[in-house]
Amino acid sequence: MTSPNRTALVEELMGRFPQVPPEAVIKEDLLRGGMAFDDSALSGGDDGDVKPKSYFIFSFDHRTLPELGAAALNRPPEEIVLTGGSYGLRRTVVSVRVNPDSPYVVRAGEDGALGLYLDGTRIADVGLPPMPDYYRHTLANGKSVMEVAPTIQWGYLVYLTVFRVCQYFGAKEECQYCDINHNWRQHKAAGRPYTGVKPVEEVLEALEIIDRHDTAGASKAYTLTGGSITSQVGGRDEADFYGHYAKAIEERFPGRWIGKVVAQALPRDDVQRFHDYGISIYHPNFEVWDRRLFELYCPGKERYVGRDEWHRRILDSTEVFGARNVIPNFVAGVEMAEPFGFTSVDEAINSTAEGLRFFMSNGVVPRFTTWCPEPTTPLGKANPQGAPLEYHIRLLETYRATLEEYGLTSPPGYGPAGPGRAVFSVSSFMDSLSADEPVAAGAE
Ligand code: SF4
Repeated sequence: MTSPNRTALVEELMGRFPQVPPEAVIKEDLLRGGMAFDDSALSGGDDGDVKPKSYFIFSFDHRTLPELGAAALNRPPEEIVLTGGSYGLRRTVVSVRVNPDSPYVVRAGEDGALGLYLDGTRIADVGLPPMPDYYRHTLANGKSVMEVAPTIQWGYLVYLTVFRVCQYFGAKEECQYCDINHNWRQHKAAGRPYTGVKPVEEVLEALEIIDRHDTAGASKAYTLTGGSITSQVGGRDEADFYGHYAKAIEERFPGRWIGKVVAQALPRDDVQRFHDYGISIYHPNFEVWDRRLFELYCPGKERYVGRDEWHRRILDSTEVFGARNVIPNFVAGVEMAEPFGFTSVDEAINSTAEGLRFFMSNGVVPRFTTWCPEPTTPLGKANPQGAPLEYHIRLLETYRATLEEYGLTSPPGYGPAGPGRAVFSVSSFMDSLSADEPVAAGAE
């Protein structure tokens, strides 16, 4: 991956797409290709002064834990924040995806201050997230808050992966870019605490600690998520399983957080149950728009629901939640993944734009996560470089143009939009929207 031309590529794209903020160009490149950490920039583990990477659902790394060595034992930070430097970056929060071979390296300079280096040249100042007070407390049973209720997006979002595995299992069902099941296995193999099904009482206890110690009030939303449930977990189907956490949270902390759930596109009655349990925002992720790629890369979703039905249910769920509060995700970049993906950026963008238009013309604003080609997944193995940076930059341009064409604004529950303001860390779609937008802080 190390290439002396990466700087030239980045600057060429900044020049060709001046309407995309330079912050978003750097952020997308870091998200798709990862960053390396010098020992001087590692977090010091779970007891240090820096908030460590929690591995909140997928690994989001370019190497397995055994391959990462010191970076795995002496954890990298959850996120970094970039400012200043040769591109004059406004404050930019980036989720950490570790790749020891990346041309981007985080390390301390001669003055001791951390910087981001590209091809050996310092391009930005790096800030690390401080260890939040609530991470210094444990539950009565000794579990850490970070294991039960990690926070991301600079503390904005409590990420509750309450079911650490997916019942789409094996090569014929797992999404071809997803390492949730592998990530669970590797954390168990490393002897780390990594609870498969989180007891609701533990979740409530961890939230209590966060609520008590989040004195800055950074924590605004929670996401209930995990693998798909095709049968039952603990005697509950998917709607009741994820929903019963929401019910307990809303009863204990009414209105304290914006409640979101990531789940399959379920029939309307099940969606209604989510709503009745107190969920405000529903994420029935459609993953990739193109029909053939959905069938090939999301075989479990195709088998259990099917693409057309998935899309129909997304639109049906707007009658329950309201269109603004249905926010399906897609994984930006997998449409260019070999062996079946588009081979030209034009084709990939046209396909994704068709999907954006389909949803946005119905008032639904999708959002996306930048694909990280994790090494244990079929698509990660076949495409260790991920998708071209140009694709990601043009997607940001297309996303914003389509949003504006339909008179829509950024989705609720993602914090502020605009360069220098956004906190959403796993794609730069929020960084590339207008900073003049009002903040859609809560469900609407
Ligand atoms: S539905 Fe797909 S992306 Fe989601 S956890 Fe299961 S395999 Fe992974």
